[in-house]
Amino acid sequence: MKEYCGVFGIYNNPNAAYYTYLGLYALQHRGQESAGIAVTNGERITYYRDFGLVSSVFKNESLKHLTGFVAVGHNRYSTSGASDSPDNIQPIVVSYKYGQMAIAHNGNIVNALELREKLEEEGSIFRGTTDSEVIVHLIVKSKKRKFLEKLMDALSKLKGAYSLLVMTNKKLIAARDPWGFRPLCMGELDGSIVFASETCAFDLIGAKYIRDVEPGEVVVIENGEISSYQIPGCENCKKSQCVFEFVYFARPDSKIFGKSVYEVRKEFGKILAREYPVKADLVIPVPDSGVVPALGYSQESRIPFEMGLIRNHYVGRTFIKPDQKMRDIGVRVKLNPIPELLKNKRIVVIDDSIVRGTTSRKIIRMLREAGAKEVHMRISSPPTKWPCYFGIDTPTRDQLIASSHSIEEICKYIEADSLGYLSLEGMIRAAGGNKDSFCTACFDGNYPLSVPETITRQAEKK
Ligand code: AMP
Repeated sequence: MKEYCGVFGIYNNPNAAYYTYLGLYALQHRGQESAGIAVTNGERITYYRDFGLVSSVFKNESLKHLTGFVAVGHNRYSTSGASDSPDNIQPIVVSYKYGQMAIAHNGNIVNALELREKLEEEGSIFRGTTDSEVIVHLIVKSKKRKFLEKLMDALSKLKGAYSLLVMTNKKLIAARDPWGFRPLCMGELDGSIVFASETCAFDLIGAKYIRDVEPGEVVVIENGEISSYQIPGCENCKKSQCVFEFVYFARPDSKIFGKSVYEVRKEFGKILAREYPVKADLVIPVPDSGVVPALGYSQESRIPFEMGLIRNHYVGRTFIKPDQKMRDIGVRVKLNPIPELLKNKRIVVIDDSIVRGTTSRKIIRMLREAGAKEVHMRISSPPTKWPCYFGIDTPTRDQLIASSHSIEEICKYIEADSLGYLSLEGMIRAAGGNKDSFCTACFDGNYPLSVPETITRQAEKK
């Protein structure tokens, strides 16, 4: 199961649950299938979780019962759909010999299956199917004495991506895997410490960004004191922050990995304009993820920017497509062109990525039907050739058009007049300049750690 999610946590605040609710609101783009909040009053953890968007899961009534000073929250997206088990909704809350604990996890643990098999052989009983549940079992079963030692022991066994919030009856702990795949930020709000996947959650509640939780770092807050530890055995792990967060996933008003997503994305567009210039009358984005790079492309090329495609923001993932004819309507439900802008114009269309190629093909047809004379496609990332095993939802290799087709062939398939992708070097330069600090596996197949065959085979079978 692949997941990308949003996490939020707050320590020492009388309105902990309410701030967590707001934080999850800001992180809704990271997961729309379920939401949950767990809160502790120092004695007992209470929680509320359900399928749906934050706004539909939490009502005044459910929030009123979540009283306490420390809270963690989670928005979940998984590819398994709404029929997924309620036991997979996070935060996971368990009771064990020494108290209670709640965890909220973003990322994918690639050795979770192996660990789970071993735990099950030893008698562990799992409620759900998520890799996150493995973490709870490892903590509880550790032979170490203190909670922090148990946690460190558990974390040192994990391979893969985790930006993790762990809450006990009294503590709040934030941990980021040694590779630093997913973002995790730390902030401050009137004396309360807050953690979030992205800083847009801090902006909403008026918190100040302090710093990122570093790759391999565990930050513990207990009795109002903050302390920091290193996950053992990760000295040789290569920093591998997910560059796709900048391309598509994170909100442009967030700061992740120490950089403004907006600025990086705009720079993608500027570099793309230098790498693949074209004579045209208008630059138009595929909203929303194409908007910021299109601004960059327009400013650099001095070709005017227009919103030639308008997006309906109320189309969810559950849009029903009954038959092939109706299915073709698909992209029109989401995007509609403005013929008055496009008629007889040479258009540069900017999107963040091409996955299977179906969206681009439909958009280009739609733009031509609306009167565009030429349509030049520009993509603000390199060709997506390899699946992600660390928390971004990508299809298998055979479905990624760029893994089996040349750029010319893709151009022909999507029926564009020309096609240009941002270079890997250009992307890294815009994202901060150091190839060694990013995971670029979806573009170049260089996975920062070996992925067990059980996972790759499972992905192929899907
Ligand atoms: P496709 O039609 O399969 O080529 O999909 C391309 C579209 O999917 C682009 O407009 C992207 O913005 C979007 N996209 C790229 N990556 C993802 C992802 N992981 N999840 C959902 N949409 C994505």
